[in-house]
Amino acid sequence: MSAKALPEVTPDRCTGCAQCAVVCPFNAIDMVRVAPRSGC
Ligand code: SF4
Repeated sequence: MSAKALPEVTPDRCTGCAQCAVVCPFNAIDMVRVAPRSGC
C-alpha cells in the first residue's frame, strides 16, 4: 500500500461509532477518548 492509499478521517463527519476499529484486520486503529470540542 502506498502512502496515497492511506485512509483519512474527516473529523466533521466522524460520529465516533468505532466500526472502523472493529473491522480493521490489522488492529491499526485505536479509539481514544478526548476532551469535547469547545462549544459542544
Ligand atoms: S467508522 Fe465510525 S468512528 Fe470510524 S471514521 Fe467512520 S464514523 Fe468515524
